[in-house]
Amino acid sequence: MHEEFDDIFALPALGKGAPKGGFPETGLPADAAYQLVHDELLLDGVSRMNLATFCTTWMSDNARRLMAETVDKNIVDKDEYPQTAELEQRCVRMLADLWRAPDAASAPGTSTTGSSEAAMLGGLAAKFRWRAGGGTGTPNFVCGPVQVCWEKFARYFDVEIREVPLTGDRLKLEPEQVARYCDENTIMVVATFGQTFTGLFEDVAGISAALDAVRRERGWDIPIHVDAASGGFLAPFTAPDLPWDFRLPRVKSINASGHKTGHAPLGSGWALWREPADLPDELVFNVNYLGGDLPTFNLNFSRPGGQAISSYHAFIHLGRAGYTRLQSAIYSVAQHLAEGLVKAGPFEILHDGDPRRGITAVSWRLTGEQPFSLYDLSDRLRARGWLTAAYPLPADRGDETIMRAVIRHGFSHDMADLLLADLGRCLTYLNSHAPRVPLTAAEGSGFTHDATAEVPLKRPGA
Ligand SMILES: *Cc1c(COP(=O)(O)O)cnc(C)c1O
Repeated sequence: MHEEFDDIFALPALGKGAPKGGFPETGLPADAAYQLVHDELLLDGVSRMNLATFCTTWMSDNARRLMAETVDKNIVDKDEYPQTAELEQRCVRMLADLWRAPDAASAPGTSTTGSSEAAMLGGLAAKFRWRAGGGTGTPNFVCGPVQVCWEKFARYFDVEIREVPLTGDRLKLEPEQVARYCDENTIMVVATFGQTFTGLFEDVAGISAALDAVRRERGWDIPIHVDAASGGFLAPFTAPDLPWDFRLPRVKSINASGHKTGHAPLGSGWALWREPADLPDELVFNVNYLGGDLPTFNLNFSRPGGQAISSYHAFIHLGRAGYTRLQSAIYSVAQHLAEGLVKAGPFEILHDGDPRRGITAVSWRLTGEQPFSLYDLSDRLRARGWLTAAYPLPADRGDETIMRAVIRHGFSHDMADLLLADLGRCLTYLNSHAPRVPLTAAEGSGFTHDATAEVPLKRPGA
């Protein structure tokens, strides 16, 4: 036996399937274990062809280097890694400036693992402020069609979610709908600045004005939390005169995902408050940790420092000018795709990648009676490696299916052309080999981003 001279695929360790259940009794040689894991992952989709995700799928070599260099740094050890803590704080001040906090130097904020954690923190702060203000009933919050993190917030923290249904032609929360759902126990209105379903921006200024009227007429002073998961790193550069942020006094907190349009690696989010008084003291823990005494307000404890570090790298590398050029380039690919879609098939565009109307995404639906559903199209595109999400709209419009492509850093004009060419071939195929029974949401590609996606749908055109 001269195993060390064998080709790795001749090793006995690879002569059988991978361990799948029960903790393995004996181990595998390091290289064999690596090869096995590496090869299993071939079954995953190609992330850069994944148009369903909002998250970063392209990273510069320098960002990769910083991530590798900091893989052993725990962000919570602020005493041991004071410079990591300092870079995180610089990011908070930069974002407070970007989002127009009245005093960017003192606006409290923290990095998080993503928008979900940041949303929980924003929601908790609103709940604590409401209680400090004398609230005693069951707290509620009002929102439009939200990302699943808000349903989690409601359930985990016992707050009633009042999701305003989509009616008529409405695809998002509209200012005139808000007042009817508010009462004295409304802890906040969550405005989504870059909806998951369509990519459209909700009208935060309009919602704010509607809440000003509520204040005048009913006396309830209801704050806004903006879920700017994707929009928070777009509008400041590509629609700078659109007020959605701390320019509106009613906006008390904002969350954004660094790992979406912020161009940071996965695991990066931010939560910021307008001013110190908006972050209740009860949420802040002054952790005496190995000699340091530092305020923390996170749901997690240990987590990697690299996400905040490489966010700082992105901010200083790109600056406002660089972000503006990059985000504009991504928007123009989205617009190119929207134009191509209109020419390619029976599609009505819901969001065409206009930077004033929404994020760097395109969403569309089928028009007329078609012999296939968008789930069939999604399924067909997958055969070429493209991952495009088709899903039902939320409550009250759940019989309607839409499709969305999120255009991200690294998705070039040329890739959009390749996608359009494949989409044309898929449409030809589906028209000449019409499925006997079009796929439904339950049978389709399995993309879910809220609970409603589990509900089987009526078949389009049926
Ligand atoms: C993606 C997204 C979230 C969740 O963000 P994560 O960073 O994935 O935790 C919340 N809200 C909106 C609007 C989103 O697009």
